[in-house]
Amino acid sequence: MHTMSSSQVSTIKERLPITDVVSSYIRLEKAGNYLRARCPFHNEKTASFYVSPARGTFRCFGCGKGGDIVTFVEAIEGLTFKEALARLADRAGVELVYEKKSPEDYRRILLTKINEEAKDWFAKNLESHTEAKKYLTSRGLTEETIREFSLGVALGSWDGLVEH
Ligand code: ZN
Repeated sequence: MHTMSSSQVSTIKERLPITDVVSSYIRLEKAGNYLRARCPFHNEKTASFYVSPARGTFRCFGCGKGGDIVTFVEAIEGLTFKEALARLADRAGVELVYEKKSPEDYRRILLTKINEEAKDWFAKNLESHTEAKKYLTSRGLTEETIREFSLGVALGSWDGLVEH
């Protein structure tokens, strides 16, 4: 597995001001040191989506979404981080060169993947577990909260996850 060097990412950011990137999707209006728009990530009547050209970041005070140009393209195009970065690199004329990872990096990535897999598995268990769902609902948790925090359930067997 390979990773991008951070200097390439900063070159991309230098060449692509956030205002250019964002305004190729939505219309921005000046608001002091910021630019403002109606948020493209949630439905709103008044503009609470702000872009900071100085910091190269955006934030919506309505839905809380925020980040940089990569996060923005990722969210608005429905891409992965890597795909969004590749698209921006292309636009900036930066060739992405990947660094080699150390064995420790591999280990960390693997452990992260295992954790994700476990989380997904427990969450998937919950989907078909009416009783557990009922319990969570009775404790006042909404579907949204359950999804947001990736809540899940362990089934009766003690080695279910390992078997999976
Ligand atoms: Zn928003």
